[in-house]
Amino acid sequence: NSPTAELQALDAAHHMHPFTHGAALREKGARIITRAEGVWLNDSDGNRILDAMAGLWCVNVGYGREELAEAAARQMRELPFYNTFFQTSHVPAINLAARLAELAPDDLNHVFFANSGSEANDTNLRMVRAYWHVKGQPERTHIIARWNGYHGSGVGSGSMGGMKSIHSQGGLPIPGIHHIDQPHWYLEGGQMTPEEFGLARAQQLEEKILEIGADKVAAFIAEPLQGAGGVIVPPATYWPEIQRIVDKYGILLIADEVITGFGRTGQWFGCQTMDVRPDIMTVAKGLSSGYQPIGASIVSDEVARVIDGVEFNHGYTYSGHPVACAVALENLRLLDEEGIVDRARTHVAPYLKQRFESLADHPLVGEVKIIGLMGSLALTPDKPSRASFAAEAGTAGLITRERCFANNLIMRHVYDRMIISPPLVISHEEIDTLVERARLSLDEAHAELIQ
Ligand code: PLP
Repeated sequence: NSPTAELQALDAAHHMHPFTHGAALREKGARIITRAEGVWLNDSDGNRILDAMAGLWCVNVGYGREELAEAAARQMRELPFYNTFFQTSHVPAINLAARLAELAPDDLNHVFFANSGSEANDTNLRMVRAYWHVKGQPERTHIIARWNGYHGSGVGSGSMGGMKSIHSQGGLPIPGIHHIDQPHWYLEGGQMTPEEFGLARAQQLEEKILEIGADKVAAFIAEPLQGAGGVIVPPATYWPEIQRIVDKYGILLIADEVITGFGRTGQWFGCQTMDVRPDIMTVAKGLSSGYQPIGASIVSDEVARVIDGVEFNHGYTYSGHPVACAVALENLRLLDEEGIVDRARTHVAPYLKQRFESLADHPLVGEVKIIGLMGSLALTPDKPSRASFAAEAGTAGLITRERCFANNLIMRHVYDRMIISPPLVISHEEIDTLVERARLSLDEAHAELIQ
C-alpha cells in the first residue's frame, strides 16, 4: 500500500468530514493535502495544485507566511491562553480589537470575539435580541435573512442561513427566523431587467417586516455579496433599497463579512464595495487568513452602548484567544503594510476580471460574474434562455469540479455555478494558469455533458 492509500483508509475509518458524503468518500478516498506555499497546494501523491479557493475563501495572504508562524510561536511562549471573561483582558485581544475598530468603517468601534463565523453569527443573534431587550422592546426578537444565504452551521447561524439542504436535516430554522428571496437575477429574474429585479427583491424585506410587524423585528442579516450561495452579485438597485428600508423601520443591519472582509472584494470590507452601513459586521476567515480559528462581531457605538448597560451573558472559552489574536494582528499588518489589499484592488482584480471574463465565450458558460477576487460562472445547456441543467441539480457543477480537480485546480461548485476566490497574492502568471486549467476542465465537462 502506498502511504496515500493507508492514510485514505485511516481517514475513511475514523474521520467524519464536514459537508461530505461519507460513503462516497470511502469509495474514492480523500485527496490528502500535505504542504502549501503561496497559491499552491501539494498532495500526498506529489501533485502541485492551484488553489483558486484560498482554502475555504480564507487564505488571503497566501500559504506559507513565516511571520504568522512566528507570531503564533512567540505568543504561545509568552501567554498561550488566558480568557477575557470577568474583567480580565490581555494584550493581543486589546490590540486586535483596537486595530479592527480602526479598519472597520464608520462607528463600528467595538469587537466581540468568537472562534469562527458560525459562532460570531450566533453572538449576533443573541446580541441584537439583547439590544432590544435592554432598550425596553423585548418583543423585537425576529430576524429576517435570505434564502440561499450562508451564515454558518450552528443552530442559530444555520437557521439564519437559507440553505434548504441544511434546514431539511436538522429541523431548522428555529422559531423567529424568516427568509426572503435572494437577488439572484440570472436564475430567478425571469423577464425583468436586473434593475427591476433588484428592487423587487429588496422590497420583499419591507413586505416581510410588515407581515411580522415592524415592532417585532430585531435585525436583517445578509452577506454584502453571497458567497457560498454561488458568488451572487446583486443588481445595483438592491442594496440602496435595503438600506432605505432598514433605516425607515429602525431595524439593525448585520453584514456578514466572513467571506467579503479583508480585501476579498478589493476593499477592506464588502459593505464599502456595496456602499452599505451595517450596525454589526461578522468577520472570520480572512481575519487570520485561516492560520488560526478566529471570528468576531464588530459593533457600532450605539449597539455597544446599549449592550454595555448590562452583563451580556454570552461568550466562549476561547473568545479572543491570545494566539489567534496575535496571528490575526500580524496578518492584518501584512495585508496593510505589504499593500496586499491595495494591490489586490489595483493590480490583481483588474487582470483576474479580464482573464476570467474571457471564459464567457465557452459553450457551457451562461454568465460570468466577478467582483474583486470573488468570481463565478453559471453553467448552462442553453445560453440565451439561461437554462439550468435539467438532471439532478449540481450534476454539471460536480462534473466540472471533478475535472478541475483532475487538472490540479481547486474550484468549488454550488449546483451549476463554478466559483473562484483565490489568495489575494495570486500573480498574473498564476491567473493565466488558473484560467487555462478552468477552460480545459470546462471543455472536458462539456464533452461529457453534451454528447
Ligand atoms: N458566514 C459566511 C458568509 C460564510 O461564508 C461562512 C463560512 O463559509 C460562515 C459565516 C461560517 O463561518 P465558519 O465556517 O468559520 O463557522
